[in-house]
Amino acid sequence: MQYITILGATGSIGVSTLDVLARHPEQYSVYALSAHSRVAELAAQCLQFRPQRAVVGTADAALELTRLLRGQGVDTQVEYGVEALCAIASAPQVTGVMAAIVGAAGLAPTLAAARAGKKVLLANKEALVMSGQLFIDAVHDNGAVLLPIDSEHNAIFQCMPHAHAHGRAPGAAGVAKIVLTASGGPFLTRDVETLDTVTPDQACKHPTWAMGRKISVDSATMMNKGLEVIEAHWLFGAPAEQIEVLIHPQSVIHSMVSYIDGSVLAQLGNPDMRTPIAHALAYPQRINSGVAQLDLAQVATLQFERPDFRRFPCLALAFDALRAGGTAPALLNAANEVAVQAFLDEQIGFRQIDRVIAHVIETVPHGAASSIEAVMEQDRLARAAAHAYIAHRLAA
Ligand code: NDP
Ligand code: MG
Repeated sequence: MQYITILGATGSIGVSTLDVLARHPEQYSVYALSAHSRVAELAAQCLQFRPQRAVVGTADAALELTRLLRGQGVDTQVEYGVEALCAIASAPQVTGVMAAIVGAAGLAPTLAAARAGKKVLLANKEALVMSGQLFIDAVHDNGAVLLPIDSEHNAIFQCMPHAHAHGRAPGAAGVAKIVLTASGGPFLTRDVETLDTVTPDQACKHPTWAMGRKISVDSATMMNKGLEVIEAHWLFGAPAEQIEVLIHPQSVIHSMVSYIDGSVLAQLGNPDMRTPIAHALAYPQRINSGVAQLDLAQVATLQFERPDFRRFPCLALAFDALRAGGTAPALLNAANEVAVQAFLDEQIGFRQIDRVIAHVIETVPHGAASSIEAVMEQDRLARAAAHAYIAHRLAA
């Protein structure tokens, strides 16, 4: 029996993970679940999966969750706060941790899982983008296993049978380049001049994937692909020059690896996150995910085009941050989180998102990512600079 903790159980990835686990009760047991504020949803999950522990964001949320659970006769232990998240990620009974909190808030518990030597199923790309080598070192030094959930990275992992998700550089395995596919999001063909008028709901209406709101906006700006380029760098040891982005609107090919002999390996499937989740949960075995088999005759056409960096300036900013190294990706990530939230709150327009990020990267000096504390300090400075810039723009 494998005992699983899901960090971010109430989110899009969390719900898909529980869907896969529910299909295999003889193999998996839910040890702990977490949410931030959606207490009613978490209570319903606890009623169904009976975890030993559940963690929420605040004392009030914990009181409310306890009341809901006891009313239903569920005796799950309720806790709150970051330390409790780290505790459910590192408890001795736990075999695997699904890291599916959105944003920098997921860094501490995801790192705790790595430090405790767990099987870490990584959806929370922001944690790896921020901490980079420090996170990979924590995985190595503690015998943890890092398996990518992000569909592109899971695809690459499947197309590199001789490489581990961390370890050998792709060049050593005969890899010429890694090709990350991208749908291009909802605004791929929209007139750039009209992008300032798009609403949060339009930005979150992704053509092929159903996801949380933050990553949906990231997909519309293509910052999501930018973060994934940095994620691929750390997971597979590939330099920026070896990573290419290719727009593929159907989202059927989830990514590809080109080898020096001219071979290209690709992983295909319907766009449903339960496939990479099931792959990583059962790795190296295969289990049923509930996803329908791909029908290529039905898909009929697969299209590809190169990304236009002027349409998607966030993608260029991410490549620049990767090349700059050190804490530059942490600055990029923090500025992006603040800008996306401001866009979702209708404080800034869509085309201001990249301007906030560029401003932060230009004005906050980056340094060496020498410790998690140094990274967190850069995260704090970047957020302050982003908030100040947005407030200044609003006042102007
Ligand atoms: P959602 O917004 O749907 O869910 C986020 C989860 O994190 C929720 O459980 C939420 O709790 C919790 N959460 C939010 N803020 C905090 C916080 N400050 N502290 C602790 N927990 C918090 O996101 P997704 O499921 O879409 O994405 C999760 C991660 O997976 C992201 O990093 C994303 O980039 C990545 N990912 C997602 C994909 C997808 O298809 N959705 C694909 C590839 C990667 P509550 O519900 O209470 O707010
Ligand atoms: Mg992805």
